[in-house]
Amino acid sequence: MPKTHQLEPGRQIRLADCPTTAGTFHDNRKQAEKDFAKLRKKIALLQHRLYSEGKQSLLVVLQAMDAGGKDGTIRRVFEGVNPQGTRVTSFKVPSKEELAHDYLWRIHKAAPQRGMIGVFNRSHYEDVLVVRVEKIVPEAIWRRRYDEINTFEKHLSDNSTRILKFYLHISKSEQRERFQDRLDDPTKNWKFSLDDLEKRKLWNEYQAAYEDALNRCTTEWAPWFAIPADQKWYRNLAIARVLHATLVEMDPQFPASEDLESVVID
Ligand code: ATP
Ligand code: MG
Repeated sequence: MPKTHQLEPGRQIRLADCPTTAGTFHDNRKQAEKDFAKLRKKIALLQHRLYSEGKQSLLVVLQAMDAGGKDGTIRRVFEGVNPQGTRVTSFKVPSKEELAHDYLWRIHKAAPQRGMIGVFNRSHYEDVLVVRVEKIVPEAIWRRRYDEINTFEKHLSDNSTRILKFYLHISKSEQRERFQDRLDDPTKNWKFSLDDLEKRKLWNEYQAAYEDALNRCTTEWAPWFAIPADQKWYRNLAIARVLHATLVEMDPQFPASEDLESVVID
């Protein structure tokens, strides 16, 4: 089912109860990879329609603990889509200029225009995650952000943007393996930062912050999905299924052509 792993508004989840490995609709890797390859092609065709139609946009939000697979998801799931119709924005520590504005300013600027798929690699959710755990702003300020985020997302949704939010759920032991791999493989050293280990020490605090973000910001107009992400093949397929089903639902149409019957090219 495409809606597998979708959270329901008002129904509280505990991340500890959410699986980090496959099993719900697929446990066969070979078949999953075949299904994924087919879906990717269909997604590319639908994106082409979305772009040509130019009336609605799709926003894909990706959040995860470090080494959770955001980069890999973007690389694999969007392989083959027309780069002209897709825009990836990675949100890092805010710049001086960004900090001089409200926290949604840089986010709204990056929201996809009609016809586009926008992918957020990290997002406004950092403002209730790292900002909360690292105590960057007082509690009274981050607490009110859940409502602000819901209102902001409603605004985007009311203005022709479909929103899908994926939390890539990995286990603490999988994170250890991925970090170790980044240390052992010279081609992956660049991905490792000592700061990642500091964050790993705060694993439980981050999980609690994620739990609140998922529970408080799952709405009819902007659902969260808790994707089991220990196995990349399953993660890719699960996300591709949701994307495909959503694009089918959006049903983009090629613009009707004008009366071209009488056009003669000499
Ligand atoms: P990778 O997972 O591949 O390391 P990354 O997304 O972690 O990629 P980095 O440049 O390593 O990219 O880290 C970006 C950092 O910016 C993260 O630690 C994130 O928590 C932080 N960040 C993002 N948004 C905010 C924010 N609003 N306030 C404070 N820190 C933020
Ligand atoms: Mg990082």
